[in-house]
Amino acid sequence: MSENEHGNSGYDEWLDAIDEGDAYYLECSNGHGSLPPRRICPECGETNLEDTPLPETGDIDTYTVIHVATPSFADDAPYTTAIADFGPVRVTAVAPDDVEVGESVSLTVGESKTNGDRLLQFERF
Ligand SMILES: [Zn+2]
Repeated sequence: MSENEHGNSGYDEWLDAIDEGDAYYLECSNGHGSLPPRRICPECGETNLEDTPLPETGDIDTYTVIHVATPSFADDAPYTTAIADFGPVRVTAVAPDDVEVGESVSLTVGESKTNGDRLLQFERF
């Protein structure tokens, strides 16, 4: 992990790891889960966070269809974002348009149609 606390370097490394099939989340010594690039536990403020393998699949909790996107996603709209429960952490990512609550998904890295930026994406498992 990067020691850089500014910018997106922690996030980019996280995307690299997901892309390589090594998705992880951050766990503090009290067992709270959080996601990069966070370096402080949001529950208890601990800064000693361990990279811990992310469960292979999560279940869709909720989803939203985005019709009007921010400029950086203008060409992607309409698209669907969803929140999936992976157990220790909840992850927000772009989901298949016909996604349903309760579906099992895995986390991958996709690409924005607008600017080619990498983004988090759920795939049906
Ligand atoms: Zn904690």
